[in-house]
Amino acid sequence: MKLLVVEDEIQLADALSEILKRNMYTVDTVYDGVDGLDNALTGIYDGIILDIMLPRMNGIEILRNIRKEKINTPVLLLTARSEIEDKINGLDCGADDYLTKPFVTGEMLARIRAMTRRKGEILDNNKLEFNGLELNKNTCSIIYAGNDVKLSLKEYQIMEMLIANPHHILPKERIIEKIWGYESDVEYNNIEVYISFLRKKITVISAPVQIKTARGIGYSLE
Ligand code: CA
Repeated sequence: MKLLVVEDEIQLADALSEILKRNMYTVDTVYDGVDGLDNALTGIYDGIILDIMLPRMNGIEILRNIRKEKINTPVLLLTARSEIEDKINGLDCGADDYLTKPFVTGEMLARIRAMTRRKGEILDNNKLEFNGLELNKNTCSIIYAGNDVKLSLKEYQIMEMLIANPHHILPKERIIEKIWGYESDVEYNNIEVYISFLRKKITVISAPVQIKTARGIGYSLE
């Protein structure tokens, strides 16, 4: 799952990003409002953690702009205690939730899980399931009928994208954008390698699930 952190207090931004990465999220971090808007407008994120007071463009304006462009990425606003007006304003402009600084890590993670939760696909906070195959975040593994096998971080991230939208073709470009980022020089071959590892692991636990290749496009979970 890919998150965007927009926060101008560099230490806080970097600390957040570290915590999120340790919790299996892919994270892009930017430190001002204009970069925040540019990134948010790509629509590639599963969630945005957005500070309100930012240089060049404030969080509320960013929010207003992305909602105007019909981008529905869930947004968690970060507010200072004194910004109650902004908080109300933010919720009116389409924020999904807010967190008042200072906050504890556990609460932030819970809020992010809540706002990015997809309907019907998640058994609980840390499990995704398809046709009996379970992807478990806590153990970073796939499980079927009591058999489990560990995944590497990249395998986990690719599997998470596939299992979130079964029967839908996931283009290779999208995997690269989400997991490696726009500026990476990862090649399609690299993804094929991870997909072949994942296929082997699915076979190891005998799950009735297949990663199909859509030639020249990408992959789907069937
Ligand atoms: Ca700020």
